[in-house]
Amino acid sequence: MSSDFRDKEAPKREGTSSPSKTAGKCILLVEDDKSCQKLSQCILIKAGFTVKLAENGKQALDQIRQDVFDLILMDMQMPQMDGLAATREIRNLGFKDLPILGLTANAFASDRQRCLDAGMNDWITKPISPKAMIETINEWLNRPIPA
Ligand SMILES: [Mg+2]
Repeated sequence: MSSDFRDKEAPKREGTSSPSKTAGKCILLVEDDKSCQKLSQCILIKAGFTVKLAENGKQALDQIRQDVFDLILMDMQMPQMDGLAATREIRNLGFKDLPILGLTANAFASDRQRCLDAGMNDWITKPISPKAMIETINEWLNRPIPA
């Protein structure tokens, strides 16, 4: 009888916001601003992701030629090669299904459209909210791969 009681009271932990599906995935963070880079890196590592860094679009292209990434976070404005140009290049290289999420301080619809037109899948607005960032990333990582 006492064991019945314990079973009833036992908390059901399975399936409650488990990050197991996304933990350990590798994210390329492309960001030139040091403080934004540090903050984003902290949020991502805390959530269980592996993070690699690039400071501009050119570095990002070098990285994706060398390593396999599950998702890219791409700042819009960077020296040498900005996020839009880098995204177009990545898509031209044949990475059609790799999720690329823009990091943008521009809340205007026209800027968001520029992200999508360049081949980004979605965007995360600055200043960065850790919750929104992780939710958006998980949404794209858990998306079924198109046939
Ligand atoms: Mg920037």
